[in-house]
Amino acid sequence: MDERKYCCFCGKKLVLKALSDGSEEKFCAKCNYVFFDAPSPAVIVMVTNRNRVVLTRAAEWKHPYWGLVSGHIMLGETAEQTAVREVYEETRLRIRDLKILKTYVSKYQDDLLMIAFKAETRDSTIEKSEELEDAKWFELNEPLPMRSTSVAGQVVRLVSPRIQHLDLKERENR
Ligand SMILES: [Zn+2]
Repeated sequence: MDERKYCCFCGKKLVLKALSDGSEEKFCAKCNYVFFDAPSPAVIVMVTNRNRVVLTRAAEWKHPYWGLVSGHIMLGETAEQTAVREVYEETRLRIRDLKILKTYVSKYQDDLLMIAFKAETRDSTIEKSEELEDAKWFELNEPLPMRSTSVAGQVVRLVSPRIQHLDLKERENR
C-alpha cells in the first residue's frame, strides 16, 4: 500500500506529530486530524462439507496455489456477517456452525489483518462468482495445492493438522 502523504480531507501535506504515548503519527494541522496506520480487516473462511474443503483461485493470481474464501469487512458489518456474505458471494454456499479461529497478518501484505473462521455447509453445488478463476471441492485427506506459508494454508493446517500441502512449481510470468 502507498504510504499516505496528504490529508484525504483537505489535501494538505501531512506532518509527523508526537502523541502523548510517545509514538509519532501523521497529522493534518489544518483538520487537526491524526492518521493512524491502521490495518485493513478482512475475513478468511474455511468451508467444509463432510471431508471436503472449498478452495478458490482469484483471477489475478500469478502463483499456482489455491486459497480460501476471503474478503474485506465493509463498514457496519461484523466479521461474522462478512464471512457469511463472502462465502455466499463467491460460491453461493450457505454456511452454518460459523466459528472464529484466530487472526493472522499476511506476510505478503502486512496491512491486512485476517480474521479466520471455519464453517460447515450442507450445500454441495458451488457456483463461483465472476471474480474467481475457479472454486471447487478438494478432499481433505489428499495433499492440497496450497502454500503452507500462506494464511489460507495455515488456517487449513490449524483445523486439520495432518493436512499435506502440494509443492507446486511457480508458473512463470503468466
Ligand atoms: Zn486536512
